[in-house]
Amino acid sequence: MTCKDALVINQLLGRLTYFHVLFIEPAMRTHRPRRPHHSCCRHRPGRTEYGPVTTAELAGRPWWVLTEIGQALGAPNCVCGAGVSDCCATCLVRHHSEQIVDCWIDTEAHAYGCVPTTTEQSLWSADISHRLASAFAHQHSINTTATCIPRGRSQRAIAYGFPLVAELSALWTQPLGQAPVISWLNHCTELNDVARERNTRTEPCTPSR
Ligand SMILES: [Zn+2]
Ligand SMILES: [Zn+2]
Repeated sequence: MTCKDALVINQLLGRLTYFHVLFIEPAMRTHRPRRPHHSCCRHRPGRTEYGPVTTAELAGRPWWVLTEIGQALGAPNCVCGAGVSDCCATCLVRHHSEQIVDCWIDTEAHAYGCVPTTTEQSLWSADISHRLASAFAHQHSINTTATCIPRGRSQRAIAYGFPLVAELSALWTQPLGQAPVISWLNHCTELNDVARERNTRTEPCTPSR
């Protein structure tokens, strides 16, 4: 990965943080953090392969911002419980990304009065968190056959009617090799602006089913 690629990744992480602070935090309701589906790949019984980068090594790097946001949402700083410092960093990136996407979906749903089905919500958060974890693994030359990034996710879940979640998905679909998306969201300063603009651009609640 070139210095320019690393810069693009940092910019995308910065945009995620900017959106979270500007649009989501002021409007979000109490968020109930999602429990990890299972242990990270380093602590899973019967492991045969696992991510070589640990959460302790992740601290202080740009990707750590996901952990900081995840912790602010009530999630522990590790996949396998608070204080475990040698969990897999890729699993942690994926887990905290899921927390963040879940929070964004809940907040946008409340702001627009448009609630996705449970299946849609879990598909969107799984898909986007998978993309972020894959970008992290690529940047750190981690073999993506590790169990922290399940295979078989080739279908992109498009979050119709949820501009911030859809933008996040678009930005991380091919984080390298394309310029960051410049969209009408750049002209909004709060979630109410997004809601107003959204209603002029999309069906009030465009279903994806
Ligand atoms: Zn662990
Ligand atoms: Zn892992």
